[in-house]
Amino acid sequence: MKPLTDTIANVNIEDLCRMDLGSLWHPFTQTMEWERDRPLFIERAEGNYLIDMEGKRYIDGVSSLWANVHGHGRQEINESIIRQLGRVSHTTMLGLSHPSAAVLAERLVSITPKGLDRVFYSESGSTAVEIALKIAYQYWRNMGADSNAKKSFLCLREGYHGDTLGAVSVGGIDLFHAIYKPLLFRPYISPSPHCYRCELDLEPDSCGMACSDRVEEILENHHEDIAAMIMEPLVQGAGGIRVAPKGYLARARELCRRYDVLFITDEVATGFGRTGTLFACEHEGVSPDIMTVGKGITGGYLPLAATLTTEKIFNAFRGEYGDFKTFFHGHTYTGNPLGCAAALASLDIFKNDEVIGHLPPKIEAFQKGLERLAAHPNVGDVRQAGLMMGIELVEDKTTKNPFPLEKRMGHRISMACRKYGAIIRPLGDVLVLMPPLSIRHDEIRTLLAAVESSIIELTEKTF
Ligand SMILES: *Cc1c(COP(=O)(O)O)cnc(C)c1O
Repeated sequence: MKPLTDTIANVNIEDLCRMDLGSLWHPFTQTMEWERDRPLFIERAEGNYLIDMEGKRYIDGVSSLWANVHGHGRQEINESIIRQLGRVSHTTMLGLSHPSAAVLAERLVSITPKGLDRVFYSESGSTAVEIALKIAYQYWRNMGADSNAKKSFLCLREGYHGDTLGAVSVGGIDLFHAIYKPLLFRPYISPSPHCYRCELDLEPDSCGMACSDRVEEILENHHEDIAAMIMEPLVQGAGGIRVAPKGYLARARELCRRYDVLFITDEVATGFGRTGTLFACEHEGVSPDIMTVGKGITGGYLPLAATLTTEKIFNAFRGEYGDFKTFFHGHTYTGNPLGCAAALASLDIFKNDEVIGHLPPKIEAFQKGLERLAAHPNVGDVRQAGLMMGIELVEDKTTKNPFPLEKRMGHRISMACRKYGAIIRPLGDVLVLMPPLSIRHDEIRTLLAAVESSIIELTEKTF
């Protein structure tokens, strides 16, 4: 066999810039800014560090978009993928099965909240959400619901569930979602459970969690029209790392049970340890009817996602072929064997390294660091659920007035962090920190110091 050439090894940075700027279109990226900032190429990664073409190392402060869990280049995950490569890279789940998919399904059932007993695979968080919505909708058809009944969804303002049109329909971030409105189905929308900027203009000490009363009002008035409620449990991620008040999740779950509406929790961001427990639902002892997972499921190595349901929902899709209760849905790369192999290795690491048990001191170290940053005159709020953290920048701390849009404060501070050896990506003017669970204490210090230096540099204010 002739040795193959390594195409990547011989291109230099100038050529790469030309190719990128000339041929690529980057997601969630304004091209004008991209061109101005100049592309940064990550050539390698090691542990919790990304390494650029010049060998400069950066802490992966947002886990390569909230996906990486145990650090980069973990031998166990690499070897599991390589073993699977030696067997088969891809086959189909349509009419066939493969060992890694079956073993992983049983393990996912065993580690997710009680009652979730079936696993439907896909390859991104968005597709997992599409599947959840379609299952919920068809569940009621298969159960014999009137064609006018149980056809809508209830979701939350500032919620985020992905970028495909079904997921966008139940999304509540105007900046991303408003332009597509004419293409979307219309859900019922309840206020974002968020105390720093309460939509209802109430105070957490005295409101009695009025935002959850709105969920109840909507369910009381419209439950016959609503197939399911969907929400991100505990933390609205892309909405700005908004941590919900304690008890909100459990109350939403209970209300859905009472009004016979399916409860979907989207754990694509919060799953696999990110909030300090394996799944965010565990914080409030909640078992949903349907749950979506993605991002961290493979340790952040390969695209894989899953939608889990109860046996009751699964059974509603049983019948003779001619009953047309089949769930006619499935992507080409559904349950890809390489992804499943990576996921199995990642779950082994969780167990063998007692990953969850080692989180509390790291969470506490970040908490102390955030408390310190909160004293800065332009930090309006700091929010944390485990290793999901948001630092909201404001121009005026008292009025909570944001910086003018054109200052691009969040963006510029995040770019400045690179100088100090950290890669982060903000959500507007909310700086996001979401490092791999494997981050070490010295790396936590470096990351927090990079953020602090960048805030001081760009605001020109010390504290
Ligand atoms: C990222 C995210 C998604 C979408 O996942 P993709 O893999 O990007 O399609 C869905 N839901 C939540 C809560 C997310 O954070």
